Amino acid sequence: MLMNLFKFKGGVKPPTNKTQSVTLPIAQAPLPSRLVVPLHQSIGGMPQPTVQAGDKVLKGQLIGEADGWISAAVHAPTSGTVLEVAMHVQPHPSGLDALCVVIEPDGKDEWIAHAPLDYAAMPPEAVREHLQQSGVVGLGGAVFPTHGKLTASKTVPMEELVINGAECEPFITCDDLLMRERAEEVVRGIGVFRDLLQPKKVLIGIEDNKPEAAAAMRLAVQTLGETFEVVQVPTLYPAGGAKQLIRVLTGKEVPASKRSTDLGVQCFNVATAYTAWRAIAHGEPVVSRLVTLSGNVHAPRNYEVLIGTPMGELLKLAQPHPDTDGIIMGGPMMGFLVPDANVPVVKATNCLIAHSERLFPPKAPEMPCIRCGSCAQACPHELQPFEMYWFSRAKNFGKTQEYNIFDCIECGCCSFVCPSRIPLVQYFRFAKSEIWAREREKNASDQAKARFEFKQLREEREKADKAEKLAKAAAAQAAKKAAEAAAAAAATTETNGLSADAPPAASEPAPASTVDAAKAAKMATIEAAMARAKAQREAVQPKNTENLTPEQQKAAADIEARRIAAHLTEPEPVAPASEKPE
Ligand code: SF4
Ligand code: SF4
Repeated sequence: MLMNLFKFKGGVKPPTNKTQSVTLPIAQAPLPSRLVVPLHQSIGGMPQPTVQAGDKVLKGQLIGEADGWISAAVHAPTSGTVLEVAMHVQPHPSGLDALCVVIEPDGKDEWIAHAPLDYAAMPPEAVREHLQQSGVVGLGGAVFPTHGKLTASKTVPMEELVINGAECEPFITCDDLLMRERAEEVVRGIGVFRDLLQPKKVLIGIEDNKPEAAAAMRLAVQTLGETFEVVQVPTLYPAGGAKQLIRVLTGKEVPASKRSTDLGVQCFNVATAYTAWRAIAHGEPVVSRLVTLSGNVHAPRNYEVLIGTPMGELLKLAQPHPDTDGIIMGGPMMGFLVPDANVPVVKATNCLIAHSERLFPPKAPEMPCIRCGSCAQACPHELQPFEMYWFSRAKNFGKTQEYNIFDCIECGCCSFVCPSRIPLVQYFRFAKSEIWAREREKNASDQAKARFEFKQLREEREKADKAEKLAKAAAAQAAKKAAEAAAAAAATTETNGLSADAPPAASEPAPASTVDAAKAAKMATIEAAMARAKAQREAVQPKNTENLTPEQQKAAADIEARRIAAHLTEPEPVAPASEKPE
């Protein structure tokens, strides 16, 4: 069936260099001498190791547990012994280390017990969880955990499920061979995605330079009685970018700030559908993938390769020429030279290109920008590469952000067409990494500030607690002194022969015959001073006489009366806690 195709802006047509590696069928790469399996092989949380040095493992056994919903499990690619769980260099331009499980194969390649799943009888949530536990991630290069993309939006109806078989980068042919040789399993995997997402249409996009793959996929769709449309799209780099393919097949433009699901579209790579089907129909976790070996080699070909295989060892299968001086992981447009020939194949490794100066001659020196605008015409994201270049070069990173540098997918079209041979993408990568570094620094300083404020708060609280404790101790001491004074007064009264039942003397006026006027005035002054001191003390100290029984109150009143009658003075007021040294 013919359908209307749409164009995306920009794009380039570099030499495809694909024919070399499609002449032979997919071969199985032999077991390597050892496997270095990185635990972090998907976007999201870092899986936690579940094995340690010395453990025996079987093929497919869990060795890294998914850490959170956006994360995927990692499994032993073959049976053998865990040599170590340690840091090893990663296939990343940074050359940084990451935690890996190193396995020495025992040569038996013995699987764990695994069985097919009747996914149609399972709730969708359980199917998604099974895919997560099987380590299924996007194999087109993005390695986003697949289960995370299999929940339809609650607000936007799912219109189209787009399956990416475009494979537009030069040299790479692993998806082409996969579709040619394993089309039925790919289509069955697409069926699982369709059942979970319930889209109105399923569109399988394949570049028109892969007629065999398109024919195989059409036949599989027909054989399985599906209604999926296999659409051949014009060969133009980067038609295999998810946004570009969605644009070509549906006419929908996914804005930089949005996801395709916001427009009712979801997109998966054909290899992802294949591994999802293997996980469901055979219970096999993702322990291998197809890798194209090409470039400066005698025998380019596609191999099924265990994850963790050292790249240098793998490339030997394709017999690299003696002048090979490096390995590019991915295609020549978006790929990168790996920092070490022994870095392992990971789930994102779709192609290894043997690099040589003969195949990739060094670029002539960079010339000044002549503002020809070719880069802007080639940019599939409608950016202004030369403006971003100027601001990156001037380290004016704020301006680069204003020109939407983070919308750049680093496809390399602008560098490819630049007549001044300016490595634009490298400038953009530099600017992005600087912005991220500054962002990290800012976050770190914000966190330090928050920690400092919290410390201050805690110190204030501790000071207040200490002051309260001191005040309580002072009150207890005062109460003790008062009790001692009362006891002394009682003893004095008894010594003078007074009855404990005597009426309260304080309320009675002193007899005029025994107390002269001067003495009465003096007593009044003393009593007033005592009352003031008592009021002050009560204001700052808790009372220990608040919950007394009537009998206790009476006894206390009697004691007080006797004490006053005996002309005893109040105990010295206790200094407030705040006035005491700490
Ligand atoms: S293509 Fe190169 S020379 Fe032309 S505007 Fe862009 S950066 Fe400048
Ligand atoms: S690398 Fe970035 S700026 Fe250059 S063409 Fe691609 S998307 Fe545009």
